[in-house]
This record gives sequence, C-alpha cells and structure tokens, in this order.
Amino acid sequence: MHLPPKSIDHQYSHELKAMLDTMREGMLFISCKGFIWLCNQRVNHLLNKNLQERTNFKDFIEDNFFGFSLTKHLKNKTSPDTTLLTIASQKTRHLEIISNFVPLDTSSTSQREGLLIVVRDLTSAHLLQEELTRQERLESLGTLAASLAHEIRNPLTAIEGFAGLLRQDLKNNTQQLELVEHILEGARAIGYLITNMLDYAKPLQVQIKRTPLLQPLKDSVAMAIASKWCRSEDIHLTCKDDLKVSCDVQLLKSCLLNLIRNASEAKKCNQQQSIEIEAKTSADQNQVHICVKDQGIGIAEQDVEKIFSPFFTTKPAGTGLGLSQVDKMMRAQAGSVTVTSKQAGTSFTLILPSKHPFVCKKNI
Ligand code: ADP
Ligand code: MG
Repeated sequence: MHLPPKSIDHQYSHELKAMLDTMREGMLFISCKGFIWLCNQRVNHLLNKNLQERTNFKDFIEDNFFGFSLTKHLKNKTSPDTTLLTIASQKTRHLEIISNFVPLDTSSTSQREGLLIVVRDLTSAHLLQEELTRQERLESLGTLAASLAHEIRNPLTAIEGFAGLLRQDLKNNTQQLELVEHILEGARAIGYLITNMLDYAKPLQVQIKRTPLLQPLKDSVAMAIASKWCRSEDIHLTCKDDLKVSCDVQLLKSCLLNLIRNASEAKKCNQQQSIEIEAKTSADQNQVHICVKDQGIGIAEQDVEKIFSPFFTTKPAGTGLGLSQVDKMMRAQAGSVTVTSKQAGTSFTLILPSKHPFVCKKNI
C-alpha cells in the first residue's frame, strides 16, 4: 500500500493539532489518494468512529458514508453539496456535513489537494425544532379543543336540562327513571371532560418564587384525603422542614394532585394503595426531586411513552389530560416530570430547580 511520507505529520505543528482538537466542529481532510491527512478528536466523537491519520479512509468508513461518493469527488476534484447525516448510536446525533475540495497547503510545491470535510453537530438545534413543532401541535390542539368544547356545551346544557325535567315527571316510574339517570350521568361525564379540555387550553399564569416545599406538599396530601382519593394512613410524606424550591406553588400543588389521583386510581383489585411522597435535593444541590410512588398496577411498557400525550387514557372514564397538563405545568416552572414503572408499581418524579437567579412572572 502506498503511504504518504511521514513528514506530512510535521507539516502542521503540534500546536495547530491541539487547536483543532479543541474545536466544536469535526475536521477531516482526505487527500486525492484517499489518505486521511488530518482528523481532529471531535470528528471521531461526532461520527462515533476511530479514524486515524495516515491511513486510508476506506479502512474506517464506506465510500458514501457522508451521503456522497468520496472517491468520485476526489477523482473529479469537485465539492459535494452539504448533506445531513443522522448517527444512531447510544445518543442519536444529527450532523451537517460541509465539504470543499481544496489544496491543503498552497505554499508547498507538492500540491496537497483533497476534500476538507467539516462536521457540525446540529442535535440541539434539531431537538429545539422538534420541541417547537410539538408545542405548535399542542397549541393548535388546545385551540381546537377549546372551540369544540364551547360548541358542545350548549346542546349539553339542553340535554341536562330536559333530562332533569323528565326525571321530575318520572318520579314514580323507577324503571324509566333509571334510564334518565343514565342520560344525566353521561351528560355529567361529557361536562367533566369539557371543563378539563378548557382548562388544558387556557394559558397558564406562572409566578415563580423560591419557597419552602413542605407546606404545599402537606396541602396537596390534605386535599387528596378530603377528596377521598386515599386514606390518611395510606399516604406517607417525607420532606425536610427547611427544603426550599423554586416554583409556582399553585401549579406545583396541581401537579401533585394529578399524580396522587392517578396513583390512587391505579390501585390493584381488592388492595389498599399505599402512596409514598418523598422530596429531596439532587446530589449536585441544583434541583429538588419530588417522587410520588405507588404499588399499583403499573404502566404497560408500550404505553409509557404515550402517557404524557393529551387524550391518552386507559381508564373508561378518563380524560387523558392530567399528565399532559402536569408536563405543561412543570415546563412552565423550568422543571420536568419523569416516570418509571414496573409491575410492582409506578414512580413519577417532579424535578424543579432549587434556586432561581431571578423571580419571574410570565404567561405560557
Ligand atoms: P387519566 O387519568 O384521565 O387517564 P392521565 O393523563 O392522568 O389521564 O393519565 C394517563 C394514563 O397514564 C392513565 O390512563 C394511565 O393509563 C396511566 N397512568 C398515569 N398514572 C399512573 C399510575 N400511577 N399507575 C399506572 N398508570 C398510570
Ligand atoms: Mg389522571
């Protein structure tokens, strides 16, 4: 095999090489004969390869690895169009490949020509774009839901009103009265769904401040017990007196109530549901994690990624809006929500910043 002379390594100094290694972009130069003359550490990191200088590129990547034929462009001395490449390893990366046919060293007499390939990581921009699209989708869904809800409300009020009158007329006819009760029950369920949909579509008012966590947790537990979702002996709260968190207290309570209600609804047949709420600071002290854990029926593996989508429910009378609302409320507080679920039960974690550099008030 014809290897380029060793002296090529010395054509650019160690300093230059060190400088290239600190670049955010991956850099790769392939000579006309197909030898890698230059590659920085970043290129290997981004491409998840182990390219070596002074070796043939074909030992590491296929000819059309970047979405164009390297051999063809090296032979014709042409610059390929910019391409986008997705590398699916442990972490999926979205890369932009910008290539130019250039002489590497114009001062040298031995024309070192080849393809200079710059690899840019667009993963964050890509994720941001996905998030924007998701937000837009949710927003249009919210608007649609709100207008639908308004349209349904009027005929629904009529149904409820007339069924109420019928109930009075049929006071003495138990059989038919039962049928009317079914109509009323159905109308109430639709009404409940509509209220939830309208709440979901409403913009959130957010007021974030650093506040002690124990009281909002206690309030939420008390509310869950008063609503008869669980008995006081079945719900346990662990939180240090002095633990503080940066949040909107009302939104946080609303998130907790949603999680506690779901936990109580996930109870296994004929078993009391035990719910543990534990709040603690993360190892680096920057976040507070509030974990709501139950020993209920768990979530089927294929459903886990769907549960935060609006209208996903496995319950006969569910709205499927609770968790998507929790997700929205946590994002509005610069936080997030995660879930792990096994047959032995489910655990949701609300993650919030423990400190905020500023007190903010905004509409989301
Ligand atoms: P809903 O409660 O109206 O169904 P949610 O958005 O609150 O809507 O929840 C969506 C779905 O997520 C539920 O229908 C259920 O399948 C699942 N889920 C949520 N919390 C739990 C839990 N603690 N245990 C098991 N499944 C749960
Ligand atoms: Mg729910």
